[in-house]
Amino acid sequence: MKGIGRRDFLKYCVGSAAVLGLDLTVMGRLQKALAGAHPTVVWLNGANCTGCTVSLANRISSDGPTDIADLLINYIDLAFHPNLMGASGDLAVQTLHNATDGAGFILAVDGGIPTAFGGHTCMLWTEKDGREVTAQEAVLDLAPRAIATLCIGTCASFGGVPAGDPNPTGIKSVRELTGVKTINIPGCPTHPDWVVWTVAQLLAGVSPSLDGDGRPKTLFSGDSKNIHDRCPRREREEADTFGQEGQCLKELGCKGPRTQGDCPTRLWNGGTNWCIGANSICLGCTEAGFPDQFSPFYKYEGVGGEDHGGGEDDGDDHDGDKDDGDDHDRDDDRHRDYGR
Ligand code: SF4
Repeated sequence: MKGIGRRDFLKYCVGSAAVLGLDLTVMGRLQKALAGAHPTVVWLNGANCTGCTVSLANRISSDGPTDIADLLINYIDLAFHPNLMGASGDLAVQTLHNATDGAGFILAVDGGIPTAFGGHTCMLWTEKDGREVTAQEAVLDLAPRAIATLCIGTCASFGGVPAGDPNPTGIKSVRELTGVKTINIPGCPTHPDWVVWTVAQLLAGVSPSLDGDGRPKTLFSGDSKNIHDRCPRREREEADTFGQEGQCLKELGCKGPRTQGDCPTRLWNGGTNWCIGANSICLGCTEAGFPDQFSPFYKYEGVGGEDHGGGEDDGDDHDGDKDDGDDHDRDDDRHRDYGR
């Protein structure tokens, strides 16, 4: 990977500002922040598939000098990342301690945190005295001391796939485990632009406004707009089987009506395509309760697919069964087992 400097990073941000959604105020503050000292980022992996790191590492800038892993390692001072850093063993552990013992640091957590069996289903490192440190222990120690805690992907944000029923390892989200207010950047995987946008905000000294699920409103539109509202297939004829190009996938189980995210306009893989554009339904992967409360995936959720906001029981009950009044589209009951 190539190394880059401050000017390159700023050039990258300016070139990508529109795509990333960085406004001029943030850009100005970012420029000032980058001229001085800025915090390091420490990245921990809980129970995950490493998909969010892969997604991030695959972010190739078409107009910037580098890929995102290069950016993180060489500019944003990513002091510790189990998959991307060169150091290993005692050296890696010492680097982690150096980064977190003194000046402020940003903690990024990728993956849910196992709590069953004393947390011993997920070990992060071994101290020199032979003591093994669990993800649970590490996150409980570091999250309260961090300048900000970023939950990268749905697993760290809400529990995600590892927390799916019957959740044998007792997975919790970072917020549920620690009680610390986290900035959640969900998605299975998360979008690399969402991570870059959020880190840029923090480096610029801006605290992003969050929605009720701890997600940056700018990226996920708060509770006011969802995938369905912005989908180019809205109002199109509804497909009754897969492979019908350009048709609405609601009858095939699409979860776009109750899923927040700017996927329809941002697109994925460097602007190439997105799930629905590839004729797949939206699975609801940016939402708390994914996957259990979005399963079965390929089941029509009913005529009331338009309803997604608010939180009052309006009777359309998007959990896929008959209307039993539990209104699993946006209210607190939906999050009962997910830490909020
Ligand atoms: Fe698009 Fe899905 Fe809404 Fe149809 S139901 S318009 S495919 S988001």
